[in-house]
Amino acid sequence: VRGYDGRRVAVLGLGRSGLSAARALRAGGAEAVCWDDNPAAREAAESEGFQCLDLAQPGAFDGVTSLILSPGIPHLYPAPNRVVRAAWEAGVPVDNDIGLFFRSLGAAGWDSFDMAPRVVAVTGSNGKSTTAALIHHVLAEAGRAVELAGNIGRGVLDIDPPGDGGVVVLELSSYQTDLARALTPDVAVFTNLSPDHLDRHGGMGGYFAAKRRLFAEGGPDRCIIGVDEDEGRYLANQLAEGVGDDRVIAVSVERKLTGPGWHVFARKGFLSEYRKGRQVGSIDLRAIAGLPGAHNHQNACCAYAVCRTLGLAPREIEQGFQSFGGLPHRSQIVGEKDGVRFVNDSKATNVDSAAKALKAFENVRWICGGLEKEGGLEGLLEATGSVVKAYVIGREAAGFAVQLQGVEAEVCGDMARAVRRAVEEVQPGEVILLAPAAASFDQYDSFEKRGDDFMAEVAKYL
Ligand code: ADP
Repeated sequence: VRGYDGRRVAVLGLGRSGLSAARALRAGGAEAVCWDDNPAAREAAESEGFQCLDLAQPGAFDGVTSLILSPGIPHLYPAPNRVVRAAWEAGVPVDNDIGLFFRSLGAAGWDSFDMAPRVVAVTGSNGKSTTAALIHHVLAEAGRAVELAGNIGRGVLDIDPPGDGGVVVLELSSYQTDLARALTPDVAVFTNLSPDHLDRHGGMGGYFAAKRRLFAEGGPDRCIIGVDEDEGRYLANQLAEGVGDDRVIAVSVERKLTGPGWHVFARKGFLSEYRKGRQVGSIDLRAIAGLPGAHNHQNACCAYAVCRTLGLAPREIEQGFQSFGGLPHRSQIVGEKDGVRFVNDSKATNVDSAAKALKAFENVRWICGGLEKEGGLEGLLEATGSVVKAYVIGREAAGFAVQLQGVEAEVCGDMARAVRRAVEEVQPGEVILLAPAAASFDQYDSFEKRGDDFMAEVAKYL
């Protein structure tokens, strides 16, 4: 990173993003002092020559200019992590790898329009990974130099930003936007908003505020905003005010957007782009195999809008969509036998994403359950019209099943039993869908492991 030469910077949390921050700081001439409560993580950092120091000790923050925090570390008042508290007491600002990235771009002079890679940031409750991966795919297919990083698996400080004409696509979760001290993308996307991670952000207000930070004053030149919820509509209004209509591209999959602005919407599987009241582009999304369901049409609209701001023609975008394979664990069709389709949507970790998955299919044998999110199952039941029967997994499977009023539900407990029971009862033309509407941590290390387990069980019957 640039602009940190000779500074002393503390790094808390030595997972992927923490270690990559420490390395980038060192490469930029800064001194990184590191800590992680896990001794194995400290050892790994020390083996790379980093100094580890318990940052909660008195005086540990002397001469330190900022604390770089990993996304998973609790910092909410009044009970933050003890190191975060020590930083507060010492008056040291908290930042993260995303903030380092944007500051570094600024310090390098890359934010002057001519030399800059354009930075696209994607946030929202659901669809971030799919949208970011789709943007990356379409741009790469169109021959643009493009890097994908952020929440999607690659640390933002591990990439080499491309130069002029290149694009960096960042997926940013609320865990990242709420900490970053600098957030200056050229183009920013807000896909949608529904309850998630409320414990981290102190409720819905804090959650929305964390996401909104991406659109702060003096923010992106172009803002692509999903307007199917009140919060998105509010954000779009605020952003357009006083700067003209072209700054905001409104996206909807619920209604035809009319009026003089710039709009991209999908209705009945058909994407349309309108500018100043005139249709200027369209794509038939029903022909795009890798983007099934209205929720994916929302992602497609967002990705389309981004690519338009970067100068692509509708036809080029359509071609990119056609070769997009989708991401694993998101509406992933993993097999078909005797007229039965098996779909892995392990990433449906919250109520809204599971509801969207249920709406994307018909005649569903639904495997659900796991570690329930704060806020309960509100909003899920109205989406269960397609469900033939639910097979409930998770440590609290019985409690989960009780809440599925109006749905026939069998408490199965674990994945092997749920898949076996669903296979025993399934009829041709039906779909066996894993869409848990819950986190995985009661039974698995991650949603990926849960999805892998589902696929391994399914493979026994294929
Ligand atoms: P994120 O990175 O925001 O978690 P993903 O693209 O990984 O988003 O998708 C997460 C889950 O949400 C998956 O279950 C997926 O099928 C579902 N999903 C994807 N796009 C949307 C959307 N636009 N609205 C609601 N749910 C979505």
